[in-house]
Amino acid sequence: MAVDPSSGRQEPLAMQFLQGLGVSEGIAIGRAVCLETRLEEVYRFPLPPEEIEEELERFRRAIGQARSDVESLGERVGLELGDDLAGIFEAHSMLLGDQHLLDRIEGRIRDEAVNAEWAVWETANELRERFASLQSERFRDRGEDLQDVGRHLIRALQGVSHHELSEIAGDVVVIADDLTPSDAVRLGRQGVVGFAIEAGGRTSHTAIIAHSLNIPLVTGLPGITRLAAYDDLVVVDGTSGKVVLHPTDHVIKEHLQKQQFAQALEEELAATRDLPAVTRDGLSVDLAANIDLSEEIEDAVRYGATGIGLYRSEFLYIERSPAMPSEEEHYALYRQLLEAMAPHPVVIRTYDLGGRKLAREVMETHEDNPVLGLRGIRLTLARPQVFRTQLRALFRAGYHGDLWVLLPMVGTLDEVRQFRLFADSVRDELEGEGITFAATYKLGVMIEVPSAALIADHLAGEVDFFSIGTNDLIQYALAVDRNNEHVTHLYQPLHPAILRMVDFVVTQAAKAGIPVSVCGEMAADPLAAMVLLGLGVERLSMSPRRVPAIKARIRSLAIEELRKDARRCLDLGSAAEVVEYLASRRVGAGR
Ligand code: PEP
Ligand code: MG
Repeated sequence: MAVDPSSGRQEPLAMQFLQGLGVSEGIAIGRAVCLETRLEEVYRFPLPPEEIEEELERFRRAIGQARSDVESLGERVGLELGDDLAGIFEAHSMLLGDQHLLDRIEGRIRDEAVNAEWAVWETANELRERFASLQSERFRDRGEDLQDVGRHLIRALQGVSHHELSEIAGDVVVIADDLTPSDAVRLGRQGVVGFAIEAGGRTSHTAIIAHSLNIPLVTGLPGITRLAAYDDLVVVDGTSGKVVLHPTDHVIKEHLQKQQFAQALEEELAATRDLPAVTRDGLSVDLAANIDLSEEIEDAVRYGATGIGLYRSEFLYIERSPAMPSEEEHYALYRQLLEAMAPHPVVIRTYDLGGRKLAREVMETHEDNPVLGLRGIRLTLARPQVFRTQLRALFRAGYHGDLWVLLPMVGTLDEVRQFRLFADSVRDELEGEGITFAATYKLGVMIEVPSAALIADHLAGEVDFFSIGTNDLIQYALAVDRNNEHVTHLYQPLHPAILRMVDFVVTQAAKAGIPVSVCGEMAADPLAAMVLLGLGVERLSMSPRRVPAIKARIRSLAIEELRKDARRCLDLGSAAEVVEYLASRRVGAGR
């Protein structure tokens, strides 16, 4: 509500429509909680001499603000989590009163004639590095504290306040600049009903998690954190990508009706559970489930998935973080998956940590470009202790079902060979201990790095199956960050370069006689999935709730036609031409 100054009456705020990308379907209606989660972007601005005094004043005011933020945070943490953790904030508050530190920052503002944010950032980094080089753990911790204090100060300078995610629950729509997949898991499990975020593309991991939790999400909404205020009423339509701030009663009613309609449609589609996924001319397609969180196992069965085509095991780690999952925790979950889906196969992907799926406990270093860094198989091979725990559990669980082990981010033959050697040593170890484990297992690789796609003929000779991860394959082949809202128009699944890679991989797999599936989001898109079938893919894996719609599309089309259409697409020059051609052939509409 806003107060009309002439009458003093409260006027409803004007309704506002925003258009983003709907990446997790459904309608959410709730009260807004706005979060700023991105790490501070700190730039260096030179100051003219006459503005330096003013900058010092601004810095001193920020110290007061940061102190009061830290103290109230400490009080809340003390009440909820105990004095030990609250002690961290006490230490931060003391550092904010450390005259030596404050003088250093002021000195930098004055001597280098720079903005306060830059002076804080530089000073905190310099001191942290100095402490990090000392042997004692106490000093290294102090370096980390200094870094945290620097963040509090920068937040205060930038006017950003703190939020404790654990306090957010109920009929709340979280509006944020960005959200990590782990925050999305946490907030989703606390009962948040919708997400509307500035960053993110269609296949970001946060989008995938929102879908797993069945929570509507719209991404690509620049500026929404400034437009919405705490407690504003918000509608999020994750199907159309529309967000409505301050909706009228009429708009709310309209969306409630849409919600009911979507529910009825979902129930109707779920009733196709026992129908086979067979084209009109008799090709049978395998539709498996992608699982991120254990609560989806039930959905996989409910929606008639034939097995699990991708279990993203890193989410077990993300859910437990900062604790590391124990061998028994891995084992219990893998066994549950295998038993729930028997006699169907279960593809368990080894940890794909790193990249944007943060792994502070195992990374050990900061990376400037983590998506091209120590991620997936690169990280696990470099951390044998962590990997051994996971593999022991995997092989033990494999005794209870049809286990397929999938390696993420493979780019070279050598990674597969190194894995085999390591896996053999783990299996020898289990045998030596007299522990029961799977006598055999299938080994596959994700085809998601362009180099892997282009050596598919060689890889096919070394593994039992391929799973094409189009989410990353598109990102790496087209050089387009899958999480960056500024380049979503360039993230083109139907780009002929991607179709040609898929075609090459499928052909090489067929020559070697190994199965190939697609587990990226393309498999769940009704149009793209039909092109994949036309290229010869006969196994698709997707979020369980998407299985019925893809099945319905498969049942309405003939594979012979799809094959001809896909061949034609391979000769076209751009994604736009492919889309236009498919529309003219009514591939998206069924025929
Ligand atoms: C992919 O890259 O397509 C994939 C399925 O893996 P993820 O989305 O977990 O990176
Ligand atoms: Mg991937």
